[in-house]
Amino acid sequence: MSIALGCIADDFTGASDLAAILARSGHKVGLRIGVPPANEDSPPSPFEVIALKCRTEPVDDAVTATKKAANWLMARGAGQLYWKYCSTFDSTPDGNIGPVSEALMARLGADQTIYCPAFPENGRSIYMGNLYVGDVPLDESPMRDHPLTPMRDANLMRLLAPQVAGKVGHIAWPDIAKGGAYIAGRLRALADSGVAHVVPDAISQADLAAISEAVQDFKLITGGSALALDLPRLLAAKGSVAATDADIISPATTDGNIVLSGSCSAMTRAQVADYSADAAAYRLDPLTLADGPDALDQARQWLAEQDPSAPKIIYATAEPADVAAAQEKLGRDKAGQVVEDALATLARDAFGHGVRRFVVAGGETSGAVTQALATDRLGVGREIAPGVPWCFAERDGQTFAITLKSGNFGTEDFFTRALKMLG
Ligand code: ADP
Repeated sequence: MSIALGCIADDFTGASDLAAILARSGHKVGLRIGVPPANEDSPPSPFEVIALKCRTEPVDDAVTATKKAANWLMARGAGQLYWKYCSTFDSTPDGNIGPVSEALMARLGADQTIYCPAFPENGRSIYMGNLYVGDVPLDESPMRDHPLTPMRDANLMRLLAPQVAGKVGHIAWPDIAKGGAYIAGRLRALADSGVAHVVPDAISQADLAAISEAVQDFKLITGGSALALDLPRLLAAKGSVAATDADIISPATTDGNIVLSGSCSAMTRAQVADYSADAAAYRLDPLTLADGPDALDQARQWLAEQDPSAPKIIYATAEPADVAAAQEKLGRDKAGQVVEDALATLARDAFGHGVRRFVVAGGETSGAVTQALATDRLGVGREIAPGVPWCFAERDGQTFAITLKSGNFGTEDFFTRALKMLG
């Protein structure tokens, strides 16, 4: 079997988000953590998503990593690629969204692509080229003060222009509303006038369906995850993938469970508070972790004493003032690193104690934990919340379940709801 659509995501939770949206079609979706070795010979799924960690890497590193991922996918038959980034267009004037797109276009011989981060189900919409988060423009949302990619403009054409060499254009909503064939005509007209990078408006999933119909033959499509929802159906209609009514995977796992949270975003703070009310809870403090091995040893001891099947959470999640204090003392990177290292060790320990169900909160945190569990391939199961699926992997010949939740996704009861779903 060869790959019908090869996908590259700029972070881990984004990759599982896209994989979940594609898996809604019932097709098999492979989720790879990092670029697999060139000689990896297990049969690929028709939809493969490679999770990278290149959102805030230097531009050249991000381009090199995504080209390597593209080569892996293309060597397995993918003639069409999907470049997935965050629905809040997380980037800086240097990149990495634009430079990676241009590198992939060159690799594929594409002269035009679209940029569509809209995710209406999660409140991200684009109108007149401006990206909204709920009812506020991107630059008035909390993304305004993101520590790594502060978004100080909501206009996607203005955000994209400094990141690319080619011409940037726009298709406004009244034209999108005229449907797929009309949008395809607008794209051709823009291509004829030399526009390589097109931002289409999209305020509903129906708009995204029309856009995906118009770009279904594009060699490169770029956007958030929601734009991909209709692609499996369109590819199946063309015969590029077999029609399927396969069940979404849900292999059995034993009930040992843990929640590991390193996200400090507002929704995760509410989720940690909600879950801690009825679960055994252990808080990690970056300041004591940085002091020496004692703090981690104590946490490991605590974990060893817990019943694997009982609800439990280990979290570093803290209020903004506490995060700021830790960052001031240790520096932002060190504060993040000690927490990620500790959660990685605790994840490995938990597996050793019989835990087979892992709920992980935080994008960076998810990267640290999946790598610690030495997982390079995940099967994608049912969604717990839009864009957050249960995934399944093997370690030491044993199946375990893991879900990777980015900071702001899910409702307050997400952790309970996630574990309940596995029965
Ligand atoms: P999100 O998806 O919410 O952005 P991430 O896991 O990507 O979550 O990022 C959170 C970062 O903050 C991680 O690097 C994590 O290690 C770090 N962190 C977690 N708790 C604290 C804390 N109490 N103080 C400082 N940094 C923290």
